[in-house]
Amino acid sequence: MEKNNKAMENGSESGRSKNFLESIIENDIHNGKNEGRVHTRFPPEPNGYLHIGHAKSICLNFGLADTYNGKCNLRFDDTNPTKEEQEYVNSIMEDVRWLGFDWEERLFYASDYFDQLYEWAEKLILDGKAYVDDQTPDVISEQRGVPTRPGKESPFRNRSADENIDLFRRMKAGEFPNGTRVLRAKIDMASPNMHMRDPVMYRIMHAHHHRTGDTWCIYPMYDYAHGQSDYLEGITHSICTLEFEIHRPLYDWFLDNLIDTEYRPRQHEFARLNLSYTVMSKRKLLELVTEKYVNGWDDPRMPTISGLRRRGYTPESIRSFADRVGVAKRENVIDVGLLEFSVREHLNKVAPRIFAVLDPLKVIITNYPEGQSEELMLENNPEDPQGGSRKVPFSREIYIEQDDFMEDPPNKFFRLGPGREVRLKGAYIIKCEDFKKDENGRMKELYCTYDPETKSGSGVNRKVKGTLHWVSVNDCLDAEVRIYDRLFMNEDPDDVDEGEDFKSNLNPDSLKVVTGKVEPSVATASVGDTFQFQRLGYFCVDKDSKDSRLVFNRTVTLKDTWAKMKQ
Ligand code: ATP
Ligand code: MG
Repeated sequence: MEKNNKAMENGSESGRSKNFLESIIENDIHNGKNEGRVHTRFPPEPNGYLHIGHAKSICLNFGLADTYNGKCNLRFDDTNPTKEEQEYVNSIMEDVRWLGFDWEERLFYASDYFDQLYEWAEKLILDGKAYVDDQTPDVISEQRGVPTRPGKESPFRNRSADENIDLFRRMKAGEFPNGTRVLRAKIDMASPNMHMRDPVMYRIMHAHHHRTGDTWCIYPMYDYAHGQSDYLEGITHSICTLEFEIHRPLYDWFLDNLIDTEYRPRQHEFARLNLSYTVMSKRKLLELVTEKYVNGWDDPRMPTISGLRRRGYTPESIRSFADRVGVAKRENVIDVGLLEFSVREHLNKVAPRIFAVLDPLKVIITNYPEGQSEELMLENNPEDPQGGSRKVPFSREIYIEQDDFMEDPPNKFFRLGPGREVRLKGAYIIKCEDFKKDENGRMKELYCTYDPETKSGSGVNRKVKGTLHWVSVNDCLDAEVRIYDRLFMNEDPDDVDEGEDFKSNLNPDSLKVVTGKVEPSVATASVGDTFQFQRLGYFCVDKDSKDSRLVFNRTVTLKDTWAKMKQ
């Protein structure tokens, strides 16, 4: 797989060049195909939570519909009752809406079409184009053979239409146990395309379906349902990922044998989104959840949309990421740094700045009168003219970060050291006069003096090299801060030694929890609110926050490794 860092060069939403799907659609419109209609759909199977790869597909399908004055449906491909659940349906709808898209009244389910699909199956049987096979799935799959050699025809392939119809109706009526019979399309057991070797259309499953209940005990295969669902919805451009390219002749075969209108949905394939340091397979994500390597589908380390949301990602940042990665025709891996870049870029514009200290070191300002305090006005966001300002209390005792002080600092260390001066952001210049360590040799307290003349905004601006963030000891709040890192240590989580699987690449340090000190203005913050902790990164209020207990998730650091790499 080739590495793709070029996406940024495509430019922003408006400025980038046309992708190949846009060219196809414009051409179709130009030629009056389907009366110039553009109708797409996003067709998830409700068997898991959506991830960032699905987000790409959502942005693409809804985005193309937007661009070309078309429509985009949401359709649940719910053909497999044993793996699908209402919980997933709900989460998928929530995620699509959260990303900012609207299917209006066009919410559909493949199960809406079960009657029609069944009728069409009978038609194929009566036309001699489908048959009931009494063999087990194992035997059927063995007979299918390998692409280089023709497969073997089933001994049941030439049953009469009457016998087939009778058996199929009895399958539907529930006369046979699971796995004893299937309905197959009669196509070509010698086709070089394995999907054309008499694919299974229906299997017997005595299972409860989340929508149709116990009405059915035979269920259509995805490959039989998918193309016809697109047809029934009037889809013009069926956009899907590359692995379905080889299924396309089968989808076309079904429609050609069932339908005599000129209109057909036309399938176009693009390369799925792969991200470095990320697994995107639903099976693997489910494994991480069920085996408790993470705390649920919305664990902020998960690449699920619900995980990203809880982590503090914004819909805007995901949409601009999707736009940046573009649409490729060949498999590639996108640097996860590009996703981080996108969220940083958006939060920089919208997230209020606050002070938080994650590894506190107490500073006593010895010449600041005891019992006195003052409120300083600080700008909320220099990037946002409407951002306003807030009051931050300042007093004799404050916290700064442990690593903003060195007992014996090198010359290039522009923070605090014995005899050195720094500016406290929005406050005063202080000078370190003395310090005290605890019995373990860890720095315990600094004794500083402040220069009252140097209050920020007073116009007196003596030059000092460093500016530190701080909070007032008596006014700050405690907060649990969850510092997340990448979930996997390896760029390709599936690159493992023999006998190991992707879980051996899990990063043992993907979550570190600390108790930080935050300025009091966040007391009124709500779950999901995002802040820039100045000099530290972007953080958002987690749903575990309750009453006076504040919990923050680190969304992303301030450091922009991706932009650096580009220079
Ligand atoms: P599976 O079918 O194995 O359960 P899936 O990821 O294909 O997993 P679907 O629910 O079928 O899940 O996916 C819905 C849509 O999202 C499909 O059109 C699929 O092509 C698209 N999609 C899934 N993964 C990605 C990805 N990584 N990048 C882009 N599109 C994706
Ligand atoms: Mg799929």
